Amino acid sequence: MQVKYSYLDQQFAEVDAHFQDLRELVASGEFTLGPFVEAFEKKFAAYIGVKHAIGTNTGTGALILSLKAVGVQPGSEVITVANTFIATVGAIIAAGARPVFVDCDERYQIDVSKIEAAITPKTAAILPVHWAGCPPEMDKILEIANRRGIPVVEDACPAVGAKINGRFAGTFGKVNAFSMHPLKPLNVWGDGGIIVTNDDKAAEFLRLYRNHGLLDRDHIEIWGVNERLQPFQAVVGSRVLDTIEGLVMARIRNAQQFDEGLKGLESWIRPPYRPLGYREVYQLYLVTAKRRDELVKYLVERGVEAKVHYPIPIHLQNAARDLGYKRGDFPICERQAEEIVTLPAHQHITQEQIDYTLSCIREFYR
Ligand SMILES: *Cc1c(COP(=O)(O)O)cnc(C)c1O
Repeated sequence: MQVKYSYLDQQFAEVDAHFQDLRELVASGEFTLGPFVEAFEKKFAAYIGVKHAIGTNTGTGALILSLKAVGVQPGSEVITVANTFIATVGAIIAAGARPVFVDCDERYQIDVSKIEAAITPKTAAILPVHWAGCPPEMDKILEIANRRGIPVVEDACPAVGAKINGRFAGTFGKVNAFSMHPLKPLNVWGDGGIIVTNDDKAAEFLRLYRNHGLLDRDHIEIWGVNERLQPFQAVVGSRVLDTIEGLVMARIRNAQQFDEGLKGLESWIRPPYRPLGYREVYQLYLVTAKRRDELVKYLVERGVEAKVHYPIPIHLQNAARDLGYKRGDFPICERQAEEIVTLPAHQHITQEQIDYTLSCIREFYR
């Protein structure tokens, strides 16, 4: 049996409605910002429950712009985790700042008890990641940030639809970033990103900055860049947004099947602790496994496309050589890099595929 990691061919098997939307877009000739992007931004803001949504070209762009919007600049430090996608850290560097890592916890999320010790007079932002679509402990992060007067930017890139006690990811920090990369829960046909904020001033800056600082065709208010969301992607994203709740619920159901199915194998393989009130969207379904590399090989040979996100933590990458970190600095993160596995558990996985994957895992540890 094949258990594929990517679901895109299944998700987009029926695309007549999408093509109809795209015909309308093409007929309008509105190819840079314009009504299609605006309509999508409004719809997305309403879904998340924020005042402003600002579309960008990528999630990485959304992060860079969000950091700039809260005042991160050359010489700043930004606190984040080393177990994330490289874009979190690349964005900090691109904003001219220095990443300061703290270790993660047993949920693979930022260890909030280690944040305060990492704060210095140069700390310009805390950048918690909703890693794999799972919210970190935002209430505790906000408590520290508010007390110390430091803005929070959520890297909610993989977490459209995630919630804590009914409140959406992207509504906790001052300015927060999402990705619409094809393998994120809200996805488009290529790259896309979106920033959300309730802060009018930040929104005004972001709208100007992503569009060359143009007030109108002839007036340039600030230096900016071109980080505009493509109308093509806004049109696709708008239709996918209509399906997001169903898609998230399907992911949650499948993740629960795996959580249940792994019971009894705890000494070999186990899902993380899942506190009440946290709605994860399982952009990646992560578990910790003994003999991880052998297990992945075993599963892949049997058609189950298991993956590792990621085998090398960012502080140990060559790119990080000048940051001054070494092996041993973040022991939890480093251990997880050796034990973590991603199982295909997306919205199009069937019960048969779940049962098959679980039986392969049991067989492996027998
Ligand atoms: C996907 C992702 C990004 C980057 O998003 P892109 O749209 O691919 O640029 C950043 N951070 C995290 C945690 C992500 O999962």
